[in-house]
Amino acid sequence: MNLTLKDYITSDTFKAQDVVKNYLETAKKLNADYFSFVRFHEDYVKSHLDQFASRPLKAAPIGIKDIILTQDYITSCGSKILEDYISPYSATCFLNLEKNWWLMIGKTNMDEFAMWSTTETSYFWKTKNTYGKDRTPGWSSWWSAVAVASGACMAALWTDTGGSIRQPAARCWIVWMKPTYGMVSRYGVQSMASSLDQVGVLTTTVDDAEILLQAIAGFDPKDSQSDPRADEFVNDKKNLDEKSVKKFKIGVPKEALWEGLDPQIKKLFLAAVEKLRAEWIIVEDISLPMLAYSVPMYYTLMPAEVSTNLARFDGIKFGLQSDSMNADTIQKYYEQIRSAGFGEEAKRRILLGTFVLSSANYEWYYLKAQKAREELQEEFDTIFAKYDIILTPTVPEVAWKLGSRTDDPLKVYLADMYTIPANMWGLPAMSIPMGMVEDQWEQMPTGIQLMAQKRAEKKLFGFGRYLEKLMNNE
Ligand code: GLN
Repeated sequence: MNLTLKDYITSDTFKAQDVVKNYLETAKKLNADYFSFVRFHEDYVKSHLDQFASRPLKAAPIGIKDIILTQDYITSCGSKILEDYISPYSATCFLNLEKNWWLMIGKTNMDEFAMWSTTETSYFWKTKNTYGKDRTPGWSSWWSAVAVASGACMAALWTDTGGSIRQPAARCWIVWMKPTYGMVSRYGVQSMASSLDQVGVLTTTVDDAEILLQAIAGFDPKDSQSDPRADEFVNDKKNLDEKSVKKFKIGVPKEALWEGLDPQIKKLFLAAVEKLRAEWIIVEDISLPMLAYSVPMYYTLMPAEVSTNLARFDGIKFGLQSDSMNADTIQKYYEQIRSAGFGEEAKRRILLGTFVLSSANYEWYYLKAQKAREELQEEFDTIFAKYDIILTPTVPEVAWKLGSRTDDPLKVYLADMYTIPANMWGLPAMSIPMGMVEDQWEQMPTGIQLMAQKRAEKKLFGFGRYLEKLMNNE
């Protein structure tokens, strides 16, 4: 079964109990091939289904990234250190889902603490792309992407720190949306890099993305960065009409068309731009010079935050513990637990972060990267004073073959180039399917990314809806 949420909730044909049963069965079957879920929660489904079924969203089946705390259920963040960790409370975004009658069917797999990009850092297993089983769906959220793309659930809740929702979306032919920083509460979401993390949504259409985002967004006093204006978006149920959307001014940064961009993706992207121009929409070339520095900026600041956030996993307060360790000092105990509990990439980032934050290096690396971040923010503000939407490809390459980049972190990091800037300035952004390109005799999907000014979610959804129709030739 592959239903859009909108069709499901606006039609009387479907009985919630049958739909959920069908999705759950499909999800379990697909998991044998794609491994997108780490756990199914049939007991949760059983105890909530009848109550949720009669409500407006009719128990729409959803997958939850395993970094979002769900009371009484394991949340392991793809890590051995939290393998059996059961949270005593639920994340606000999850409680909001329940309030809106979405039904969790299970937790989806992820890269360890959402770090890396090929899905190969999960402690549990590697998930496979529906468009090529020997390929990564791309980025730490790809497990959810596969779940949605394969029809295992109607939508998925995901977090995005540097592109983790948009990139798998582009690589799995689905819609991804990351809202303005502060729009969705991060309370109860395990922090990776607190100033960059944001909860977002994966769906098959732009309409569904907006319905889901309105369900989870809202001001939350429990998150110190939560934005009180988030409620305005939640309560605004009107869509922008096509006439207003066609008056938007669109900017395309020339730096986005660099030599590292796959020529086939570039061709598709330029064709999309021409399609817009043919509809008399103003699309102009602009310049965003700091785009070229987004990767070094991110991979300096992000590990710094990671090294601080992961310090809490010390084998005493949370997660993995041992009383059989041969450690005569507390220091040695920490070392042994953390060495056993974290995977290679988590360790690499903790080391990098500790290095850039150390007193000898702080000014040279961390402070410099912060200054670059401010410059990027200024560039964005200048552009958004004149333009409504910035367009770029979502990814420079299609999904790689599993195992092909494990030894080359720099190449992996470089592919985050287009998606990082939105996190750096907390902008809302979206990826929608752009077309297929050929890679090693396989047709692989790719996406187009839209970014808007902070709190301009309505503009983003309005333009996203229009572009989605245009790309589908409707
Ligand atoms: N590739 C990025 C990283 O490894 C993506 C992170 C994310 O968005 N979760 O940091």
